[in-house]
Amino acid sequence: MGSSCLIQCRECFYMREFMIGIGMMYSPNITKDLDSEFALLPKLIKSKEVLAYIRELLEEKKAHIPFGYGHRVYRCPKCGEFHGRFYLRLEYDGGSYEVPYHCPECKVSLGLVNFGTSGSDYLDKEKAIDIEQYPCPSCGKHSLQYSEGMILWD
Ligand SMILES: [Zn+2]
Ligand SMILES: [Zn+2]
Repeated sequence: MGSSCLIQCRECFYMREFMIGIGMMYSPNITKDLDSEFALLPKLIKSKEVLAYIRELLEEKKAHIPFGYGHRVYRCPKCGEFHGRFYLRLEYDGGSYEVPYHCPECKVSLGLVNFGTSGSDYLDKEKAIDIEQYPCPSCGKHSLQYSEGMILWD
């Protein structure tokens, strides 16, 4: 079941809420579905090029999708803004592919942020970062707070 998280600043009015995790409908099979009316990926991933590449990997390389996909928080290294995106990695013989995302403002690659919370169980908790290391995208002070919300979706 998915949950939500909240990033807010103690010094200004910056506040953003994100969905994290996966819903009950997000089974590995439906995640591989690109064509039916229930297909999730075309709703979650906006880039047609990326979807075409995923299709190629699934069909030609017989790629599989390991557990760990789901909604996560990404951060733009340039403007510092946080974005919610769908993390998805495909593994195939000889390699793997992680869906890339870009900041809508700066066009640079977004980095996955690991807060070491329940939404990121599969990630190494040792590598969890403290959100205070990032400046607030709005006021620039190191006064951000991260909390997991109570809102469950799906
Ligand atoms: Zn940016
Ligand atoms: Zn602020």
